[in-house]
Amino acid sequence: MSHASQFEHDSILKTVNLRHRAILQKATGTYDTKVAETKAKFINWNHGREIARQRKWEAINRLDFYLQEFERSTSARGTIVHWAADAARANEIILRLCKARGVRKLVKSKSMVTEEIHLNEFLEEHAITPVETDLGEYIVQLRHETPYHIVTPVMHLTKEDIDLTFHEKLGTPTGSTAEGLAMTARRVLRNEYLTADMGITGANFIVADTGMISITENEGNARLCSSIPRIHVAICGIEKVLPRLDDLALFLPMLAVSGTGQQLTCYNTMIGGPRQAGETDGPEEFHVILLDNGRTNLLADAEQREALHCIRCGACLNGCPIFKNVGGHAYGTTYQGPIGAVITPHLKGLGEWKHLSFASSLCGNCTDVCPVHIDLHHHLLQNRRNAVSAGYSSWIERLNFRMWNSLMQNESAYRVAVVLSRIAQKISRAIGLEGSPIDPVQPWTDKRTLPAIADKTFRDWWDDHKLKMKNEE
Ligand code: SF4
Repeated sequence: MSHASQFEHDSILKTVNLRHRAILQKATGTYDTKVAETKAKFINWNHGREIARQRKWEAINRLDFYLQEFERSTSARGTIVHWAADAARANEIILRLCKARGVRKLVKSKSMVTEEIHLNEFLEEHAITPVETDLGEYIVQLRHETPYHIVTPVMHLTKEDIDLTFHEKLGTPTGSTAEGLAMTARRVLRNEYLTADMGITGANFIVADTGMISITENEGNARLCSSIPRIHVAICGIEKVLPRLDDLALFLPMLAVSGTGQQLTCYNTMIGGPRQAGETDGPEEFHVILLDNGRTNLLADAEQREALHCIRCGACLNGCPIFKNVGGHAYGTTYQGPIGAVITPHLKGLGEWKHLSFASSLCGNCTDVCPVHIDLHHHLLQNRRNAVSAGYSSWIERLNFRMWNSLMQNESAYRVAVVLSRIAQKISRAIGLEGSPIDPVQPWTDKRTLPAIADKTFRDWWDDHKLKMKNEE
């Protein structure tokens, strides 16, 4: 099945699943309330967005300079920086490190980039055990699922679902409270930190001038992953760079507010290198992997480059009416929702993933809620246009639009077409053809009601009306 057919199939199943929709609506509803309350504490939220947009514009448009500045600054403190052109190279770097250092087990904190490169599956194929330590990611790993949402991996589950998962996978009794479930995960994971040889984290930002990575989290597990094992590897996309440390004063609250409705996320950690002489904490080795994996395709596209400004807060997912109905898994991508629909064609190919850009009402809410003001809904339109220009539309669609174009430019032909369509619709309804499998518009009317074509067009009515007015004068 093609990705487009799979998406359509899964979306239909999810949309008619009322339990799934109720969970999703409750989660996004709670989120909306919290975000609105926290945003209201800003003197001028939109001014903050504009400054954030300008900072990201500066970073992305001088990406080569800032990435090299980051490499210089962090290398000076003993960090080893690796450059990975694609997922295969990034996985190979991690595998090589594991083999050279005898790593059999590693702990991981939440990282969408490791989902993007399918790191866990790759490591398991090479007999290395990755253990997710973010509670949501840990639950997803136990269930052999992919994260449902870029910020909230288990948004689709209730406490009862998680209780059952723990019962089946960890043998705990059912009926635990939320606190009880968290304590169970804590107990299991504490031992994993202490026995792992490597910790892998993502990075929410990398700061060029000080050579630091910044990690934002609510559970403290990323701190444990980056400080207890003897080797710490951080992997992130090249677009995560910020020019200056000062920029975090704006980006950390923007991320927290848009991501979870918090004023500031609980733990914000900056790491600038491995343990230094005289320090008691930290890993012996610190590696940073800077991943391209299609991002430079986006960078080369001046029209859509700003999609690299994304700070992965998830706000556009939560605000999207399509996501609110079909949920995260239906997309079949690492990055879901509007931002996923914009960037996935660049990262994985327009031909296979163009359909995501059509899964939008184009209401523009994604653009409105984005803290760095990415013009998401216009980028969806640009993807649609690019797909057509590249010849990815079907012959029937092209034929339809050609006919429509001709009709719209020829008044007589348009009038004839309206009359013929009206007659065809009446016959079709009279003989019960409408909505049947041989009805040519059935795929469209399957989910919608086609209105009856009016007996009189507006132009005809207007002509009659003018005549009537004239006669009355
Ligand atoms: S596009 Fe904007 S709203 Fe969507 S995840 Fe990225 S930063 Fe957040």
